[in-house]
Amino acid sequence: MPVEFSDRMTYPQSAPVLVVGGGLCGLIAALAARDAGAEVVLIERETHLGGSIQSGRGIVPAAGTRYQAAAGIVDSASQFAADLQRKSRGAGDVRMTLAVTSAVAPTIEWLADRHGVPWQLEPGLPQAGHAKQRFHGVPERSGVALVRRLEEAARRAGVRIITGARVLDLHASEDGRVVGAMYTRRDGTSEDIGCQALVLASGGFAANGSYRKQFMPAVAEAFYAGHRGSYGDALHWASRLGAGLRHTGAYSARAAFAPSCGQLLPRTLIDEGGIQVNLRGERFGNEVDGDADFAAQLMAQPRGLAWTIYDERIHQQAMGGDEYRVLAGSNAVHQGATPEALAAQIGVPAPALADVFDRVRDYQIGRSVDPFGRVFAGREPMALPLRAVCVTAALLHTQGGLMVDVHGRVLRDDGTPLPNLFAGGHAACGISGPHGSGYLPGSGWLCALSLGRLAGTSAARMVGWAGAQAPEAAA
Ligand SMILES: Cc1cc2nc3c(=O)[nH]c(=O)nc-3n(C[C@H](O)[C@H](O)[C@H](O)COP(=O)(O)OP(=O)(O)OC[C@H]3O[C@@H](n4cnc5c(N)ncnc54)[C@H](O)[C@@H]3O)c2cc1C
Repeated sequence: MPVEFSDRMTYPQSAPVLVVGGGLCGLIAALAARDAGAEVVLIERETHLGGSIQSGRGIVPAAGTRYQAAAGIVDSASQFAADLQRKSRGAGDVRMTLAVTSAVAPTIEWLADRHGVPWQLEPGLPQAGHAKQRFHGVPERSGVALVRRLEEAARRAGVRIITGARVLDLHASEDGRVVGAMYTRRDGTSEDIGCQALVLASGGFAANGSYRKQFMPAVAEAFYAGHRGSYGDALHWASRLGAGLRHTGAYSARAAFAPSCGQLLPRTLIDEGGIQVNLRGERFGNEVDGDADFAAQLMAQPRGLAWTIYDERIHQQAMGGDEYRVLAGSNAVHQGATPEALAAQIGVPAPALADVFDRVRDYQIGRSVDPFGRVFAGREPMALPLRAVCVTAALLHTQGGLMVDVHGRVLRDDGTPLPNLFAGGHAACGISGPHGSGYLPGSGWLCALSLGRLAGTSAARMVGWAGAQAPEAAA
């Protein structure tokens, strides 16, 4: 996937704005550029759009929307930015954080007013570190449904969408101006396309084993539960064009992937008081202290495996979720009337597991303090019988990437923008800082939406569409 430096000027086809990647960011960028009047071509390597959004409710946090106002919720971009900064312990870029929190509410309302996306506030969800109820979703409560609505909108608006085509090479002049690209189709044929501005919306790099080893060795061998398209193509090209990279060691991961049934365990199992032990039957950390950090700790345990252990009350609570019900009906869940009986079932030393059970009960009733710092107060002590599921760590996505500014322009290390390169979503550096633990739930979608619109609008403006207005309060 090289960048070819040449003075080539002619192409058999061209697009003023070319968008690489048809996930959430690419779809929004393409719509924004098209709305601003530019002709747009979007190229996606898979045969369908959506990228990382393969499952889940697809809920986007946005502050200061009319949907919140109708529900009597007073919220603002600055309050949202403060929540993000608190989570990242001040390590996220302050200006970028405010830019994305300022852009997201207008983006939600623009999608509703201009493209008929019927948002609704999602009440009753855990706020997960957000000071206000600010998750918005579509009535189908599905990310796939949102993608379908965006694809329909993009086609209606006249975006040319090419699927099943992977962009392999970029063509650029010596000063780093992208002039075109080459993509290959699934039948092996390839085509060239010229462009005046390029938006990189091709996701992160977690699917690429070499990048994992280079940038996040602690989880390089973790099971990868994200999208295979996140191969780091944007990182590869843009760094050759001189782009700066930032926070490439930050990732999202969970110590909760059950290999026996190929799914992530619901958070309830741990949040309600469950614990994890390694194959020696020992706890090895604070199970609730940062998904990414704990996932790395799990990977450092024997064989990178652990047992999630919980009781009947937690089991009954988890049965409210469809995915857990499927899991509970499989042979992935082991049971024991006592810690010793469970230990025999799952093959860990019985004295160790019995000792952990006694200690955790002491933490739960306040008789002693967990040396790993977990606060168990507020949860009922674990009761017999017990259940256990074998888990390993799952890497979900990266959080670092290309340095961009509040207009979605890709920057060099010295902060100057590349001539005509834009990026958003997981291709760009997020706002969670250098550590995985700085990620506030919903930040992925937040950056895909906000930066997608900023990048698409800026790209259209760059190619001369005077009608292109940046989203409100973006700068
Ligand atoms: C399991 C999982 C759970 C998640 N849960 C949440 C959540 O609860 N909340 C949240 O906010 N975020 C969540 N995220 C993150 C969220 O899905 C992403 O932040 C967001 O979807 C990223 O969008 P994107 O468009 O930047 O990238 P992607 O969705 O990765 O899209 C990139 C697209 O580019 C395509 N592409 C790549 N290279 C090329 C190429 N060379 N040529 C053509 N096409 C290319 C890919 O095929 C892909 O379709 C989750 C992610 C995963 C994996």
